[in-house]
Amino acid sequence: RLKGAGLYRGNNTLPDEIVVVLQDITDLRRLEQMRKDLVANVSHELRTPVTAIQGFAETLLDGDVDEETTKHFLSIIKEESYRLSRLINDILNLSKLESSQEKRKEGISNLRDVAIKVLNLFDDKINQKEIEVIVDIPDDLTLAVDKDYVEQVLVNYVDNAIKYTYPKTTITISGVKQDNGFARIVVIDNGPGIPMKDQARVFERFFRVEKSRQRDVGGTGLGLAIVKHIVEGFKGEVGVRSNEKGTAFWATLPMCY
Ligand code: ADP
Repeated sequence: RLKGAGLYRGNNTLPDEIVVVLQDITDLRRLEQMRKDLVANVSHELRTPVTAIQGFAETLLDGDVDEETTKHFLSIIKEESYRLSRLINDILNLSKLESSQEKRKEGISNLRDVAIKVLNLFDDKINQKEIEVIVDIPDDLTLAVDKDYVEQVLVNYVDNAIKYTYPKTTITISGVKQDNGFARIVVIDNGPGIPMKDQARVFERFFRVEKSRQRDVGGTGLGLAIVKHIVEGFKGEVGVRSNEKGTAFWATLPMCY
């Protein structure tokens, strides 16, 4: 798009000066498209559990369902309503992070302390799957990032690692100080891994490697998008390395001196 504005002097019909404003609208258009896709995705993701809840509730109300089937349907309704509530939480969380009003809180957090706290949240699941957890973080590794953010990053990585690692295997959480003022956090599991073609996309909203595999473990597809958002907000980076023996998710966050 080209806008021209002329500055005229006297009767001279030719402008002495022309101001040309060139604006690249491809970025704007891409942003608009992303927004549209997001709304479409959100609607679709919300509609799926709602449709399931309505359908099973209506079947139950119609009667003529034996006790065992009734229990089964009720458990689906319960599961789907939990899923719905996780989705709503994640969507609100992400939009809060994206709104410019949310000021980045640059507190101080000890990475090891946060990791231990996060692991406590998953105690039951860790015991159920008989997972061994290794924490390899120096005591004095402190980040210039508010605890809540560090916790959100670790919760999402650790939650996935526990979900996907095979029973009776090990997950490792490590923290390494880098020379550039950032610490590198790595969470490694011994699960099925992520196919190469999907690795670049796992941080996208609502992206799931395999819909069917995902449904069993009840995720929302938003966890990693939230991690990426937080980390990039602090000028850090996220990434994944994976093969068929397991996956390593990493993130860098600024250290505190
Ligand atoms: P979800 O809430 O579905 O787990 P995420 O954004 O956390 O959403 O993850 C996106 C997708 O990436 C998951 O649905 C899963 O397919 C894949 N994924 C994430 N972490 C792992 C992992 N540790 N091992 C294998 N696949 C993973």
